[in-house]
Amino acid sequence: MTTKTEVTTYLNFINGEWVGSEKGEVDASINPADRNEVVGYVQKSTALDLDKGVQAAEEAKADWSALSGAERGNYLYKVADILESRLDEIAKTMTREMGKTFPEAKGETARGVAILRYYAGEGMRKVGDVIPSTDAGALMLTTRAPLGVVGVITPWNFPVAIPIWKMAPALIYGNTVVLKPAQDTGVTAAKVIECFEAAQLPAGVVNMVTGPGSVIGQGLVEHEGVNGITFTGSDTVGKRVGQGALARGAKYQLEMGGKNPVIVAEDADLDLAVEATISGGLRSTGQKCTATSRVIVHRDVYDEFKEKLLEKVAEIKVGNGLEDGTWMGPCASESQLNTVLHYIEKGKEEGAELLYGGKKYVGEGCDTGFYVEPTVFDSVDNNMTIAQEEIFGPVLALIKVDSAEKAIQVANDVQFGLSASIFTTNIQKMLDFIKHMDAGLVRINAESAGVELQAPFGGMKQSSSHSREQGQAAIEFFTSIKTVFVKG
Ligand code: NAP
Ligand code: MG
Repeated sequence: MTTKTEVTTYLNFINGEWVGSEKGEVDASINPADRNEVVGYVQKSTALDLDKGVQAAEEAKADWSALSGAERGNYLYKVADILESRLDEIAKTMTREMGKTFPEAKGETARGVAILRYYAGEGMRKVGDVIPSTDAGALMLTTRAPLGVVGVITPWNFPVAIPIWKMAPALIYGNTVVLKPAQDTGVTAAKVIECFEAAQLPAGVVNMVTGPGSVIGQGLVEHEGVNGITFTGSDTVGKRVGQGALARGAKYQLEMGGKNPVIVAEDADLDLAVEATISGGLRSTGQKCTATSRVIVHRDVYDEFKEKLLEKVAEIKVGNGLEDGTWMGPCASESQLNTVLHYIEKGKEEGAELLYGGKKYVGEGCDTGFYVEPTVFDSVDNNMTIAQEEIFGPVLALIKVDSAEKAIQVANDVQFGLSASIFTTNIQKMLDFIKHMDAGLVRINAESAGVELQAPFGGMKQSSSHSREQGQAAIEFFTSIKTVFVKG
């Protein structure tokens, strides 16, 4: 057993200093591959700690927003270089703290580096338009103003990329930040913040306060000193965040769950579709908001697709994400494992046929981890709970349909609309899918889980607050447009 004294305790970062919570309480961050391993202790902060973080961000905002975009960009380039130099170490921490495989964690950390560089460059790009005035002697244009202090609330599934894809645009457009990361990945978050510290951003520009979502997350939402809230997480919490922000007139942005379909048409390249279904559905143990969870297959190719899929699923190596050859790590936490097992039981109860997996995974060396088997259900009706609610685990539900039109209808018959993909070689089917699929990301002959940092990202229906993150779309949330009329 690891004792508390051998494990590092991570602090809050407020006004350029690492400080403990006023009450001195901490939470243990556990390795989901081995529940006996404590990765680190993180502060269990209070509303008073949060106040200090917000105050620091308020005091720093005037000077930070007075810099040029290029000057702010130079700080972000430095953060990127520092993160890159610590890539393996931070990725390893991520694997230990939330379970995704080391190659995936490295990929995510490299993504964080690229996002920082992308937004560093944004500091030199155009922010407005010139619009002809009806007054021939006047100049009319738009410029952008930062919101001020931005509260950033993030989940545990992308503990490097999501905080960075929110903080980098917030900062480049002149805002200051208070980050409240998921408590389950507070150590990884602290290491990301160490990179900002090492780049010597002015004190108070970036702050981090860790603690329970119900105290620190909600506290940020309700804090009068916070001008905007950007949130990624579950739809239940997201809706509460949106209501809280709206109630006091703060700007907010919510990115929430998905129930993402892949459609396999009768003319699809089945090998490609199988590969993408497995990659999109089961990588990261199904814990991506864009993960494939419903597989809607035309009846003519259903049996052949199913056979090929099961053959490949059987090859998946489950284990500790730090071990070479592991393809799928554990669920990120015990509660996540229990949620997944609960949905699997629900699927069986409601009459779906369990084709593969369905249990806690108990392979060698896995008895102290939160492992689950990759799971495939057959004969799923789209009304079943496993076809409607986000599971956030490695569970695929196969649904049989008679036509491409029916496939899109079934694909749309959920409350979410984040990501969707189709496998077909028929151009008309592609065009119909692009037009009729209600999802923020529609992908043709590619897995549902791919995202590129330079393109807008976000969902339709209950997957988001209808705003977009990433790429140049980020400017819409992190700034307000100012329309300027000038007459000499
Ligand atoms: P979550 O439980 O909603 O938590 C998200 C964040 O909100 C955490 O930092 C959490 O803190 C905090 N929080 C909890 N209660 C709060 C409250 N009352 N007020 C304010 N903040 C509060 O989600 P999760 O389990 O971490 O993440 C999984 C979910 O994220 C899935 O639904 C997934 O689809 C979604 N997700 C969406 C996207 C996207 O871009 N659409 C991307 C990734 C993930 P604590 O955890 O520390 O309590
Ligand atoms: Mg953990």
